[in-house]
Amino acid sequence: MRIGIFGGTFDPPHIGHINALKTFFEEFEFDSLYVIPVFVPPHKALKSDVSTEDRLNMSRLAFGGISDKIVVSDLEIKRRGKSYTADTIRHFKEQGCDEIYFLCGTDMLLTLDMWYKPDYIFSNAKIVFARRESDSDNTEKIAEKIKMYKEIFSAEIIEMKTKVLEISSTQIREGLEQGVSEYLSPSVLDYIFEHGLYGLNKDR
Ligand code: ATP
Repeated sequence: MRIGIFGGTFDPPHIGHINALKTFFEEFEFDSLYVIPVFVPPHKALKSDVSTEDRLNMSRLAFGGISDKIVVSDLEIKRRGKSYTADTIRHFKEQGCDEIYFLCGTDMLLTLDMWYKPDYIFSNAKIVFARRESDSDNTEKIAEKIKMYKEIFSAEIIEMKTKVLEISSTQIREGLEQGVSEYLSPSVLDYIFEHGLYGLNKDR
């Protein structure tokens, strides 16, 4: 069984995530593709006070409905504790998934060797990455890292060619203080207003 995994804080999920996810889905003929909001990200701090439940609900609104093969999963949320990707990959291996692809953006690709059990991750999943930056600043750094991952971990790394959308949740949280964002799907924006997230007033 061939599956894809796309993890993130999704605080909030934005069109950069959706664009990368859609290309990932279209390129690899997955039996299932799991979008997994983290519970506690081990590699970076959560930067807002939005609840886990709200991040999960927004992820369902943003990523649900693209295909019934794309499943927004609460696996890491239910597991509690730090959300290690190695544990998530092990879960799917135990379910009989023999081909696992893991999607990440440039920032995550560059730090993968510092993650918990990188050797386990690299030997049990193929890494697919999407560039997040339109300038070529990172190109050399990425090539060096890929070379190193191949030498040390015999990693399989695939660069996914997709439209680059230079956008982050951080920028969106900051923009939302002014009350608008063109980088969110309308249902996510409505949810944010309805629940007064990111300091927004419910009565816009
Ligand atoms: P924050 O600004 O809060 O740090 P973020 O925008 O980086 O958040 P995450 O939820 O942490 O979003 O990202 C989840 C995954 O999606 C990571 O692998 C990240 O690299 C990737 N990603 C995020 N934004 C983009 C983008 N614009 N294009 C491609 N991949 C992206």
